[in-house]
Formats: sequence, structure tokens, C-alpha cells
Amino acid sequence: MTIQTDILPYRDASLTTAERVADLLARMTLEEKVGQMLQLDAREDLADAVHARHAGSILHTSPERILRARELTEQTRLRIPLLVAEDCIHGHSFWPGATIYPTQLGMAASWDASLLERVARATAEEVAATGIHWTFSPVLCIARDLRWGRVDETFGEDPFLIGELASAMVRGYQGAGLDDRTAILATAKHFAGYSETQGGRDASEADISQRKLRSWFLPPFERVAREGCRTFMLGYQTTDGVPITVNDWLLNDVLRGEWGYTGTLVTDWDNVGRMVWEQRVQPDYAHAAAAAVKAGNDMAMTTPHFFEGALEAVQKGMLEEDAFDAAVARILTLKFDLGLFEDPRLPSDDLDAVVGSGAHSDLNLEVARRSLVLLENDGLLPLGAFGGLAAADPIRIAVVGPLADDAQNQLGDWAGGSGQAGWLDGQPREMITTVLDGLREVDGFAVRYAQGADILTLEDDPLGATFPDGQPRPPVVVPVAPDQHLIAEAVRAADAADVIVAVVGDRIELVGEGRSTATLELVGGQNALLDAMIATGKPVVIVLLASKPLVLPPSAAQAAAVVWAANPGMHGGRAVAELISGAIEPSGRLPISFARHVGQQPTYYNQIRGQHGHRYADLTQAPAWAFGEGLSYTTVEYSALGLVSSSVGADDTIVADVTVANTGTRPVLETVQVYVRDEVTSVSWTDKELKTYRQVELAAGESQRVRIELPVAACSIVDARGHRVVEPGDFELLVGPSSREDVLLRAGFTVR
Ligand code: BGC
Repeated sequence: MTIQTDILPYRDASLTTAERVADLLARMTLEEKVGQMLQLDAREDLADAVHARHAGSILHTSPERILRARELTEQTRLRIPLLVAEDCIHGHSFWPGATIYPTQLGMAASWDASLLERVARATAEEVAATGIHWTFSPVLCIARDLRWGRVDETFGEDPFLIGELASAMVRGYQGAGLDDRTAILATAKHFAGYSETQGGRDASEADISQRKLRSWFLPPFERVAREGCRTFMLGYQTTDGVPITVNDWLLNDVLRGEWGYTGTLVTDWDNVGRMVWEQRVQPDYAHAAAAAVKAGNDMAMTTPHFFEGALEAVQKGMLEEDAFDAAVARILTLKFDLGLFEDPRLPSDDLDAVVGSGAHSDLNLEVARRSLVLLENDGLLPLGAFGGLAAADPIRIAVVGPLADDAQNQLGDWAGGSGQAGWLDGQPREMITTVLDGLREVDGFAVRYAQGADILTLEDDPLGATFPDGQPRPPVVVPVAPDQHLIAEAVRAADAADVIVAVVGDRIELVGEGRSTATLELVGGQNALLDAMIATGKPVVIVLLASKPLVLPPSAAQAAAVVWAANPGMHGGRAVAELISGAIEPSGRLPISFARHVGQQPTYYNQIRGQHGHRYADLTQAPAWAFGEGLSYTTVEYSALGLVSSSVGADDTIVADVTVANTGTRPVLETVQVYVRDEVTSVSWTDKELKTYRQVELAAGESQRVRIELPVAACSIVDARGHRVVEPGDFELLVGPSSREDVLLRAGFTVR
């Protein structure tokens, strides 16, 4: 193709991205370069963002704002298209009528990477159709203290599982290649250690050593960095006194250096400003901008004063004029690779055909079913097999609880009603099935509903409606007292029923950024409701519709069954009803441990060996339900674990077989979990770690010999010098249905 003379080289699609970037960069003024590094809030003054500050990217926008922004960029000298970003973290969160899936934590309970890849692909199709190029997902933070408000956004507590699922979602979002119009940029966030909070308090200091980061927090990030996740977002935390925004070791030595990452780094919300007004480690925006640029950040999210600050830094000699080139080149690379100069990927005319499509709805139901975890069952479930009634008699069900019919809260955080976006208060009610809706649809169930309890009321924070940066301050949650009238109504419904389904959990006001909780117990009148339901003597099925693991009251020990549904998305209620009725098999496994008491924090299974004793004076340390647990409607037995060879070299693969038998009468999707214990390590290490797993389908009565293959290289620790090594010596392979020690089969092996 010949280059037309009236076309500047960077507009010539036949040139390579590198050539186009070099040409465009050479034409840009200092102001244009600094502006390119800005990502600004599209809800604010777009003309200021695009014309005065030359912004390179916008977030939190609508189709109208995207079109308006496009008009504005077309009026600029170089007509550089904007990157449009949004938090589409379990579906296209803030798009009315989009498909909202279970939260990341809910989806993680499926332990099914290919399913999550499909969800991310389907999300990308919806997101791309609406003119958005970049999602701030997935979250690779390790859930630690359950009081943290963002546990629901994680894949749980295990680095291996996080890596598997995050890698799948990145593949799904980015698709076959960025030149595909349905591909969107994925973001690995929040780099790194943000979840290691103090007392669960959001964005507090992360007191975490480099070795600890290397041991557990960094491996999932390293994996997606090496696999080509195009962007990384920082967290908010400081570590060892250093805000992540200027953590030279993490950003440069590790991410860009050791891992060779060439993608784009975006700060979190106003991180550059925060160094001035919140953490107070920079005297002004000039110093803050200079520090952020020198540390290798490419894009400053929502710090408009980064613009003036960076220019002042140049003027005062704190930054060279070319200090921005590397960052701008990386941003432009994304834009050229997405083909935005040829096609700005504006909202599509027929987006209704894609957004909330029937196919995505089917996928949503599939993932909702797979996200449910049956934690307890005394044999009552599935109710289809309920005894004592003539076959023709309907089973009378009292559905109680404040979350039984609360469509928007069921969707959880980062969804229509969760408050981050002002332009919608929720998703269309008719797209959502609550548990009440779902149970009403089951043939053979006669349902009577009573709310039974309220959860909370809200009061204004006495410190004011906004934080110093103008962001809204969450209101203060005031738990309500049990309401005897509501309880009495629920008891009446229960008395007239064969079975009680109590739907309890948390509401959006108890979830999210700046909304960590001091307690893990059910808030408001919910415990009193459960106590009253148990006291009726009727069998109680507790459906825990909770963003994160919560603590049930002592009376719950007498419940017939407990199901954890996380925030199960738009079809969550239908999936729960199918599980209760036995139309589907429970298959979810916990990606995170449940505490018995908030004082047990943290409760994750893979803690470091060595402490005095194994319990508190007044309580066991054992979790209520451990990582990996989850029941089926059948029984599964593991036997005959055998290693092909029990002596292996560092480059070998461990090969083992185990017999997994479905000894019950219903089919099962069994998650065969494989842990490794390194018997003696040169430095303290966790007692066992998940290293791989396999999911096998077994018909009733079927038994399979399941092969496990694990590279010896995976049996590593991080030594005292921070190097990941496999230390020769004795190991154990532990195989079974969960991380609980007493359910695992063991086979010893030696690494030569
Ligand atoms: C959150 C990020 C999110 C960003 C943009 C921040 O406050 O920590 O996870 O992507 O806002 O909405």
C-alpha cells in the first residue's frame, strides 16, 4: 500500500505499531504527552479533560459521553482517540440490562477456569458493544482478613486458584487478539499486597515483607504478566512506608525487570493526589507527579492536577522533558493495537442484540448453579426427595429473611445498585430471579413468604458527606433491633410449612470500598430470626446470600442445611431453587475459609507452621468450613493413592493416580484437590499448599482412576534470600475433597 502524502505516518495502518508510536510521539508537545497519561472521570467536564488537559483516557462514562468525547478529540490537533475504561468486574456492571454474573468470589467457587473464561468473553462482547475498551478486572488480591470490604471481589485465599482463574478471565477479556472488535483490555489489580490490611480496614498500610509478597501475593500477578495481561492497576496501600505508586522495587525491579512486563500501569483512584493529601509523603502535586512518573506509572487515574503538577515538575527541573515518553509510548501502543485510530470502537448501533443476550443469560444461569456451595446437609436436601408427604402433596415452604426477595442486593457490589455509578439505581427487576421467585417457580412447592427481619438503617457520617478529595463518604450503618412483629409473622408462616428456607446475609452497605465490617455476624434482626425459625422445630435451610464468609449464630448448628450463595448474579434465585429442589447437583467448593468467630482472623488454610498450641483459650482455631469444602447430594470416596515413582528429580513431573468413587445414588462433579507438603524447609513455610486439581464427573455408582500430574518445579518455596527454589528432600502429596487434613490421602515422595 502506498502512503498518501496527506496522511501522517502514524495514521497509516500499514505501518507497525512501533513505527506509528514513534512518529506520533515525535509530534506531541509536552502538554499533549502529560495529558496522555491522564485518565479522567467522564462524569465531570469533558471539554476540560480533552481540550485543556489533553486526557488520554476516560472512565465511568455513558454512550452519550463517549460520543461527546469523540467529538472533542476530533477537534484536537492530533486527533488521538481516547481509551474508554470501566469497572466491568462481574459483567458490564453499570449498564442497565447488561448480564450481571455472580461476583468473582462466587464464580471462584466453581473452580472452573474454562467457565470463567467464557464469562469474561461474554462480558467483553457486551462491554465492547457499548464503546468501552478496557475493564478493570480481574482482581488478583488474596483474601486475608474477612472483615475487609472487598473480599467479594477476590477469587479467595489461594494463590494457585487465583492464578488459574485470573489467567482464564484475562484470556476471556482479551480474546483472540486486540484487533478483534470484541476484545477488551484486561487489568490485573490491585498490584500488590493491598489485601494485607490492618484489621480489615480498607487501603490501610500493608505490613508485608518482600519475601512474603514473593511467596504468595505475587505469583498470580507474575503469571498473568507473563501471559500478556495488557494492563496492571496499583492498589492504595503503603508498604514499609512507601506508597505503592512509588514502589520502585515492585514496579521496576520485579514487574518490569524480572518479569519483563511491557504492558501499561495505571494508578488507582487519585493515587498521585493521595500522596499529597492523604499519605502526606509529597509536599505538592509537582513533587507527587514527578515521583509517580519516575517510578514508572503510565496513567494517573483521576488526578486532574497531575497535569499542572507534571508541567511544574519539568519547569523546576525535577523531570526531564522526555521523562514521559516511555509511558506515553505504552499508552499509544494500546491504542494502536486496539486499532482505535482506524475505528474508535464507538457504541454499536445494535448493542441491544448483544447486551443481556439470551446466550449470555444461559451462561449466567450455568455459572450461578456452579457457584453455590452446600456447606451442611442432614439429608433434607434435595427437597424433591422430601419424605413424609404423599407424592401429590405440594411441599409447603416458608421463605423468610430480608434477602429472600431483594433483587438488587443479590447482585452485590459493582452492580447497578451498588452506588459507584450515579446513572442507575439497579438492574431491571424482571431480569433478576430472587430466591423467592425461584422457589415459587418450582412445581410441587407451595410457597409462603415473610420477611422476618430488617438489617440496617443508615445515618450520615458526622465527618461529612465527602472525603477531602470530594469522593462520597459512605453513610454510617446502624444495625436495627429484631422486630418482634416481623418475627411473629415469619413464625406463623413457618408453623404452616413443612420446611423453612431462611435467606440471610449482607447488604451492599456492608460491602465494598471503605465499607469493611468490624463484625462477621449477621447484622440487624437476622440472628433473632434464625433463632426463632430453629425454635419452631421445623427443618430450616439457611441460604447465606453473603458477599463474603459470615458467621452464623449458634442456633444455625441445628439447621438442616446451609447453602452459601455469595452474590449469585441475576439468576441466583433460580439456581438456589434448583439446588434446593434437586434439579441440579451442588458442586461448588469453597475458595475461601469460613471463620467461626471474627476473632479468629485470619482464617485462611495455608498459614505458616509454628505457634504455641493450636487454639485460643476460649475457642478452637478451626474454621467453620475450610477452603475446598463443599458437599454433594451423593457420597464420594477416595482410595488407593499411588505414585508412579516416589523419587523424582527437579525437572521431573510427579505422576500419581487415585481412585475416586461415587458411592451414592446421584451424579457428582467432584473437585479432586491436590496439595503438597514440604516436610522440612530451610525457612518457615505453610504446612500444605494447593498445587493442582481436577474436576471429574461421576455417575451414581461410578468409579474412576484419576491421574494427577504435577511438575516438581511447582513444589517450591521462597528461601530466606527471596529466591523461589525447590529444596531437595521429603514431601507429601495430599489428595482429597478439601483442605481438611483428615480427609486427605497421602503419599510420600522424595525430590533428589
Ligand atoms: C478501586 C478500583 C477501581 C477504580 C475505578 C478504585 O477506587 O480501588 O478497583 O477500578 O476505583 O473505579
